[in-house]
Amino acid sequence: MVQSQLHRAQQGTDRPLMVADNVKVHFPIVSGFFKKTVRYIKAVDGISLSVRPGETLSIVGESGCGKTTLGQALVRVIEPTEGRIIYSGNGQDTDIAHLNPAELRPFRADIRMIFQDPFASLNPRRRVIDIIGEPLRNFGMTDKAEVKATVADLLRRVGLQPEYMARYPYAFSGGERQRIGIARALSVRPKLVVADECISALDVSIQAQTLNLLQDLQEEFDLTYVFISHDLSVVEYISDRVAVMYAGRIVELATTDKLFSRPRHPYTAALMASVPRPDPRLARSEKRMRLKGEVADPANRPRGCAFHPRCPFAVDQCRNEDPLLRRVGGGEVACHRAEEMELEGVRKNDA
Ligand code: SF4
Repeated sequence: MVQSQLHRAQQGTDRPLMVADNVKVHFPIVSGFFKKTVRYIKAVDGISLSVRPGETLSIVGESGCGKTTLGQALVRVIEPTEGRIIYSGNGQDTDIAHLNPAELRPFRADIRMIFQDPFASLNPRRRVIDIIGEPLRNFGMTDKAEVKATVADLLRRVGLQPEYMARYPYAFSGGERQRIGIARALSVRPKLVVADECISALDVSIQAQTLNLLQDLQEEFDLTYVFISHDLSVVEYISDRVAVMYAGRIVELATTDKLFSRPRHPYTAALMASVPRPDPRLARSEKRMRLKGEVADPANRPRGCAFHPRCPFAVDQCRNEDPLLRRVGGGEVACHRAEEMELEGVRKNDA
């Protein structure tokens, strides 16, 4: 938690910066000569969550769980099929899910995205000054000297030399390109940044540096992060709270401490079991679950709990009744048997 967040919490002004209310993103599957919709891929299927100012809320899950689609819906890179996305960063509540492009434009500076692939996300034919300067110009900075000075300042803040602004992306390493991507995202002083697997394409040694940079910038720029990742060891390091997604829905949401010391959903516990641990007691524990089978097909969601074909704790109720997300032990979990199970976390202390 950064200082600014603590300050707001102490002042009692800690209302959410963004609230997603029953957000759905369904992609139609069409078939036949008349392109009739036969089914839907329910990539995001009724997500409700809030993002608090100054926090890092991580969204985790295996590939195909819908986390990237959710992130793209939150920044309106893709259209939600249903639901509301309430943004409160400018002092009033606005449902940005239903704004047209012109109405949405002022919010584009407040809510930015850092993309996964630092190689693909930078235009190879443009110099760094143009890449970072483009959002500045788009949002009204017309003076060339001012753009140049701002880009120089941003490069310094992300740990790159201002002289690099004249270079093209090919001249940079993966880690440096991601720093350029971060500088571009921060150029228009956003309040909320959605970072989608933003370190997963980098070497492990560079990942730690980039995470540290993101944390420093969070404090410096008073940022709120939605951090999307499949890697729980990274999520554990950077997050205040964690939402675990499976088959387009949240199956568990808790503070990082609670989640990693006492997971309540078998899927969360199984994801944790796949994280390498230096502690031999935790690494060998027979109580640690192993994840088997394929991730549920979002176009053909299993009846009942979508995780039941892979869950060693499944009972008849799980095969027939869809568990709702409900409060258990200070967090939220969608599992019929959450109170009964003693699942193994990866932290020794109980939260
Ligand atoms: Fe497993 Fe049943 Fe809980 Fe689903 S509801 S996670 S199948 S125990």
